[in-house]
Amino acid sequence: MSVDGHLEALRREGRIVIVGASLAGLRAAETLRAEGFTGTLTLVGDEPHEPYDRPPLSKQVLLGKVPADHTRLPRRRPIDAQWRLGSAATGLDLAARRVRLADGDTLDYDRLLIATGVRARPWPHELEAELDGVFVLRTQDDAARLHHRLAAGPRRVLVIGAGFTGSEIASACREREVPVTVAERAAAPLVGALGGVVGEVAAELQRAHGVDLRCGVLVTGLEGDSAGRVRKAHFSDGSAVEADIVVVALGATRNTEWLADSGLGAGPRGIACDAGCRAFDVRGIVTDDVFVAGDVARSPHPLFGYQFLSLEHWGNAVAQAEVAAHNMVSASAERRPHLWMPSFWSAQFGVNIKSVGVPPMADQILVSQGSLAEHRFTAAYGYQGRVIAAVTFDQAKWLDFYERQIEQAAPFPPEFTTVDRRPEGHQPVSAGFPDPSQPTHGPTVTLSGYSPTDRRVSFTPRRA
Ligand SMILES: Cc1cc2nc3c(=O)[nH]c(=O)nc-3n(C[C@H](O)[C@H](O)[C@H](O)COP(=O)(O)OP(=O)(O)OC[C@H]3O[C@@H](n4cnc5c(N)ncnc54)[C@H](O)[C@@H]3O)c2cc1C
Repeated sequence: MSVDGHLEALRREGRIVIVGASLAGLRAAETLRAEGFTGTLTLVGDEPHEPYDRPPLSKQVLLGKVPADHTRLPRRRPIDAQWRLGSAATGLDLAARRVRLADGDTLDYDRLLIATGVRARPWPHELEAELDGVFVLRTQDDAARLHHRLAAGPRRVLVIGAGFTGSEIASACREREVPVTVAERAAAPLVGALGGVVGEVAAELQRAHGVDLRCGVLVTGLEGDSAGRVRKAHFSDGSAVEADIVVVALGATRNTEWLADSGLGAGPRGIACDAGCRAFDVRGIVTDDVFVAGDVARSPHPLFGYQFLSLEHWGNAVAQAEVAAHNMVSASAERRPHLWMPSFWSAQFGVNIKSVGVPPMADQILVSQGSLAEHRFTAAYGYQGRVIAAVTFDQAKWLDFYERQIEQAAPFPPEFTTVDRRPEGHQPVSAGFPDPSQPTHGPTVTLSGYSPTDRRVSFTPRRA
């Protein structure tokens, strides 16, 4: 059969399996149908729920404004799929084009999309993690349990880790007037994602809202009572705090273990794919029938030196799923690259934080509008003399402009004049990101390309 004939048959009666039934999986399924795919579509998800939205889990759900089970993702169109919910994929046979499921079943595919996302990194001490009152927040079920306990009026909540999720949880606690302590290893909250200068603003915000913020400390142990309920946490500076809820917000782990022996280029940093969302195998050869999208993917971006970016961004999951789905059923000349401009938002302590570009890549920052002290500003981030990111606190209207600056690789420090530029915006300063070779739970973008500090993979070919 000709190439065109094969593609036509695939679109008409092919078998497509999507592993990961969440945001990226659902949006890819909808795009496949919108593109005219009429074959068999199977969605495999290890959670028992139909796809739901995660951003409200640390915001409206914890505030009691939206019940956890009312976060179902809106459907853009019918997808006529076979759902395998509550069923984890446990293995992949690339040669046979077959996915193994936990219940022993197998699914054959012509095209596979992997959208297995990330999971919350648990508290590393297993016995302490099992204490009643110790939580993580990633799923609808996590959010329902945590909300239930917050509504019962705890004496104090301890949040371990002041990245975006930890900071949003602390914000929800304060809005509910629950006393909260936040413990952060870095010098300030959000340092991994936004750097030290903006991190200081985040610290001021937390303290102004009554958070007992402790930076530069590690939690060294959790202590339970005789009934197995958490009651106390110990810190590396010798201090301790009594808390009846502990939320572990130490970042995320990519869901790639099920691919360990598959021969796919999958590991702790995600699944490497090309700009067209096709997965690489361990030899660095791009596959033609396995695609990746969402938080689990890492792909090169021309605007950021072709470094591989792992993005834990809602908008990226949607955009990459749409590109992957299109490419899965298109001829090579019609395939599209995934060139989405990274962007992210967060709502905490009454402030709307937005970001475009890749702040953790920056070496310098300049407050181009507004003032850090007023917690209302726009900061441009620079890398080797060009604008590569911008972050706004309650000034989102300027972001489109900065997005264009990033796209055009505009010079940094910015040469244009801006309204409301204050003396602090006259000279760039160090952006204050931690050493990239040090582990941090904070970044929402991880650069995993050829940076000299990057960890290298060693490949030992098996002898015959
Ligand atoms: C509390 C919270 C707040 C957030 N807030 C924001 C925000 O304000 N702004 C923003 O831009 N982003 C935010 N995000 C991030 C955003 O939700 C993610 O980027 C998005 O959910 C990624 O979608 P995904 O489909 O790639 O992965 P996920 O949503 O992680 O879905 C992956 C799915 O695959 C399943 N799975 C994993 N392994 C297997 C397997 N082997 N077999 C079958 N199924 C499997 C998982 O259980 C999961 O259901 C937030 C995330 C969380 C958790």
